[in-house]
Amino acid sequence: MSVLPPDHHVHTSFCGHAAGSPCDYAEAGFAQGIPSLVITDHIPAPDGYDPQTRMPPATFPQYEAAVRHAQALWPGRILFGIEADYYPGCESWLEPFLRSHPFDFVLGSIHFLGDWAFDNPTQRAGWQRRPLKTIWSEYFQLVRRMAETGWFDAAAHFDLPKKFGHRLPDSVLLELAEPALQAIRSHNMVLEINTSGLRKPIKEIYPAPALLRRACTLQIPILFGSDAHQPTEVGDQFIDAMRIARASGYERYAIFETKRRYRVHPLGGGALLPNPSEQPGSSAPGAK
Ligand code: ZN
Ligand code: FE
Ligand code: FE
Ligand code: ZN
Repeated sequence: MSVLPPDHHVHTSFCGHAAGSPCDYAEAGFAQGIPSLVITDHIPAPDGYDPQTRMPPATFPQYEAAVRHAQALWPGRILFGIEADYYPGCESWLEPFLRSHPFDFVLGSIHFLGDWAFDNPTQRAGWQRRPLKTIWSEYFQLVRRMAETGWFDAAAHFDLPKKFGHRLPDSVLLELAEPALQAIRSHNMVLEINTSGLRKPIKEIYPAPALLRRACTLQIPILFGSDAHQPTEVGDQFIDAMRIARASGYERYAIFETKRRYRVHPLGGGALLPNPSEQPGSSAPGAK
């Protein structure tokens, strides 16, 4: 049994800004004890949204084929996922896109406020144009809208706007985030503990400890993701992430299996973990 949790957030070279194939990530992850992986490359956007950081729609079948190839080599250890952006106006194509592909896992993300990619290092000037609280407020309103669609299994990097250090006091952060957390709970979504924040200027896991404690109080399940953009980042700092989850009150984490269903696994100390079979949890299958 593995001490480490599965990695639910892994990119590939198909998006144009990551290195490696699904097989490269699998080899790297399994070698360091990650039991399974969900490949979640950036979703193509047929409406011209952010074409620089995602595969074109015509390439999508090749992405799926690359994931299937890895699945054939490591049966039961690779899931077919996608990191899907939510933004106003995406609805008419995103819903049918998600429904018409047999994803095992759909990760929901907000990377833009209007046409501003607030987490893009080349667009940091945007942070000077509006008050901090306004930006965060708009961001969490979009996370709430994303959750309310019911189309996503998990919320990625829940406090992504902090990436470059643009923090709010915890009390304000909690107030602005609360409706988004409530929507995540009421739509049976899972919250991602994303370790990529440790590799960014903020040097902190997403979400921040105060948000994680609140999510735990609300009984929102968690899962782990590295947001790896190169094979060496698979499972990055998951031991720390598990420790932070325990310190926030969590005793279990979710493991997606297939067809958008998950079970929960004890967040134990490691070698003495019981068998990962009890307490089957599930999310609604298909387009929920
Ligand atoms: Zn990316
Ligand atoms: Fe993302
Ligand atoms: Fe990602
Ligand atoms: Zn990401």
